[in-house]
Amino acid sequence: MTLLHEECGVVGVSFKEESQAALTLYYALYALQHRGQESAGITVHDGMQLWTLKDMGMVPDVFNRRDIQRLKGHTGIGHVRYSTTGGSKIENCQPLHVSSKSGTIAIAHNGNLVNSKELRCELEREGRIFLSESDTEVIAHLLVKELMHYDLEDAIQELIRRLIGSYSLVVLVDDKLIVIRDPLGIKPMCLGRIENGFVVASESVAIDILNGELIRDIAPGEVLIFSNGTYESRQLVKSKNYAHCVFEYIYFARPDSIIDGELVYNVRMRIGQTLSEEHPVKADIVSPVPDSGITYAIGFSKKSGIDYMEGLMKNRYIGRTFIMPGQDMRETAVRLKLNTIKPNIEGKSIVLVDDSIVRGTTSRRIIDLMRKSGTKEVHMRVASPPIISPCYLGIDMATREELVAAHKAVKGVEAVINADSLGYLSIEGLVRSIGIPYDDLCVGCLTGVYPVEIPGERCAKRQLKLSEFDEPVKKELRSLGSSKFNEPIKIENLKR
Ligand code: AMP
Repeated sequence: MTLLHEECGVVGVSFKEESQAALTLYYALYALQHRGQESAGITVHDGMQLWTLKDMGMVPDVFNRRDIQRLKGHTGIGHVRYSTTGGSKIENCQPLHVSSKSGTIAIAHNGNLVNSKELRCELEREGRIFLSESDTEVIAHLLVKELMHYDLEDAIQELIRRLIGSYSLVVLVDDKLIVIRDPLGIKPMCLGRIENGFVVASESVAIDILNGELIRDIAPGEVLIFSNGTYESRQLVKSKNYAHCVFEYIYFARPDSIIDGELVYNVRMRIGQTLSEEHPVKADIVSPVPDSGITYAIGFSKKSGIDYMEGLMKNRYIGRTFIMPGQDMRETAVRLKLNTIKPNIEGKSIVLVDDSIVRGTTSRRIIDLMRKSGTKEVHMRVASPPIISPCYLGIDMATREELVAAHKAVKGVEAVINADSLGYLSIEGLVRSIGIPYDDLCVGCLTGVYPVEIPGERCAKRQLKLSEFDEPVKKELRSLGSSKFNEPIKIENLKR
């Protein structure tokens, strides 16, 4: 199966008429920059039509003050996108627009559909033309199609019936902002109050930066419809269990975000402490791989009583190594990114803590670097269990062939990365540290058992099927009456 990963950050704002959405979205995207550095985009509705500005690059590269001033409107959505192999193109930048006889919508998506190929073939057979490779365009076409037959709420419900995978979506239909979180709650999404309106975002840090107040997480299967700074909520689907992504806690989210009720920093501290209990070792100092290992190393130091001291310094002016395509680039990037603080590590036994080992390249490079600087022993401690299976649901990880732990036992990985000892967190330790029941987490990358059906992989539980939708809820939605979507809207793209 070819994978087009969609590892992203999304945001939406709805103000009362007089406020400017674009500036708010711009600040929020800054807070979500860690979720995607490849491209950024904003779409606003000015009361008449949609306006979009998007481009390749980081938030400050894509927008300037003049652009933001020109993007007038009190409702809007924004998106940052992560770099992915094969998908690094301007056409895949979001928000995406899709037009039809019934109008134009704009959509931004965090997540990954596993049935997008089938859906796309079906839509292409009906004569729909796709401009990008992304599954987001599939969602947009489906929604536009359903809107030709149903009112807004029913169209959204029909859409959810068809999608399998992870999706936190923000959509503009006219001046309405629609927010949808998949029934398993795989990707995060939260709601906050800001002066004069509301904001929804992948992570609560986006609300913090706006001086807003986090209200709550969007519930899995919930849909919110915002209009002029007020909103209505619909619980369209209720699953027995959820499948929150553990990798958000391990690596992806910012530690100052609250995700599904848990502060990521606290989770990481607990993981560090658990790691020290599970894999004790005698050493002189505990040192993190910056920045991803820092909170874990502090937790490890606290629990073990071994001094915390930095042995590596990060050059902050370089992007994450993972985003560079091709192996050579990645290795060069590691060398550019990290340097040792020699006197802190020379002649010492060190507990080196990082969040995860994916291919093993980074750990090997870092340990070699430390040995060159005179480190006596390097005991690697990893804040996640071994990653043995690819992610199909939105984390850009690697193929199974590339995952070092997919083919080697712990001793084998220890040899590959050239460590004196290697200890991974257990799955039980991870689940306990996160504080969410095992059955409500997606641990596909750690077990090879996924929460949705993926061809060739094992499945633990399935997303709700058509027959399992709640009829009474649907009836209630029908009684709400139709939306004003059928009025056509004009669209202008400001893309440079
Ligand atoms: P590797 O060299 O492939 O073993 O990379 C492992 C390093 O990449 C760890 O230090 C992680 O902090 C980082 N990492 C893990 N998962 C991701 C991801 N999805 N995107 C970017 N970096 C990652």
